[in-house]
Amino acid sequence: MSTKVTLIKGDGIGPEVVDAAVRAVEATGADISWEPCDAGAGAIPKHGAPLPEATLASIRATRLCLKGPLATPIGGGYRSVNVALRQEFDLYANLRPARTYQGLPNRYEKVDLYVVRENTQGEYSGIEHYIDPTKSAAEAISIITRHGSDRIIRFAFEHARAAGRKMVTLVHKANILKMTSGLFLDIGREIARAYPDIQFNDIIVDNCAMQLVRDPSRFDVIVTTNLFGDILSDLTAGLVGGLGLVAGANIGESAAIFEAVHGTAPDIAGKGIANPTAVILAGAMLLDRMGQRDRGQRLENAIRKVIADGKDLTPDIGGKGTTASFTDRVVAAVKS
Ligand code: NAD
Repeated sequence: MSTKVTLIKGDGIGPEVVDAAVRAVEATGADISWEPCDAGAGAIPKHGAPLPEATLASIRATRLCLKGPLATPIGGGYRSVNVALRQEFDLYANLRPARTYQGLPNRYEKVDLYVVRENTQGEYSGIEHYIDPTKSAAEAISIITRHGSDRIIRFAFEHARAAGRKMVTLVHKANILKMTSGLFLDIGREIARAYPDIQFNDIIVDNCAMQLVRDPSRFDVIVTTNLFGDILSDLTAGLVGGLGLVAGANIGESAAIFEAVHGTAPDIAGKGIANPTAVILAGAMLLDRMGQRDRGQRLENAIRKVIADGKDLTPDIGGKGTTASFTDRVVAAVKS
């Protein structure tokens, strides 16, 4: 029986790269029945809102979604649709792989790591205010709970096990943020005891940033709180060639949403030259989640082969190809 997956094409280059990803995922032979739904700025004329109820209902039912980038309309009091989706489905884990590609100029040859970012708490809890009308100061509350820390750190260890990884590194700032970051670290140490097969260590976030730039190969699975994860996962994306090449999964108990890390790229939208790699890799993560790891792996291997061959690469990675010609090569590589 085919698996239903909600499909949000999104704004800007979204439709171009999502169509490419659908072709690539289908080339693996996966039996998926896509449920196209609207979200983002493009949904407003039709639905009067950037996140229509029908889209939420579809994700609630399918529990799986492949999503293109979304533009949040400026003004009009709209909150970020991406944040709204995370909150609605309590997508507490943001999983971002970072791997180097043979054939692209990179500072490092062998980056192969995951950042597991807590997606709902910390400095991003959304509780902040000015202390007076003249805005003489502002305060924010960072919330770290035992429950929130426990589930994300367990997620990291479980992911490490499932992906055959050897080490989890917990990133914190417990020397200064003694209670919030300190609690996260304490819970990490407790949980690590239940995973004797996985090495565990911890590192202060500023040192981690430096070590990542000096020698990323010493990291395997990084688990950290929201703000640190936001910054470090862009850093690791930079280590492997930039946002156009990395995908992310937002995972909760009730749903999982897979997406590219990049935005709507309005400067190149409609030109047919957007790089679909990131959304295709998001499609590979979707297949993994569906329990079809072999197909996900084939898709990732196909991308690696096409990039290593260097033909029809899109302009952002130094080629003269188009979204369509690059995708043709990926589809051919998947089927070969
Ligand atoms: P962006 O990622 O859209 O673009 C940054 C630069 O990278 C641009 O020069 C763009 O052309 C290039 N780029 C991005 N993806 C590419 C691809 N696949 N192929 C080739 N080049 C690519 O970031 P931005 O300009 O800061 O944001 C534009 C819009 O996207 C904003 O409205 C922002 O809110 C939104 N956004 C959405 C998401 C999301 O939905 N997950 C994430 C980030 C930004």
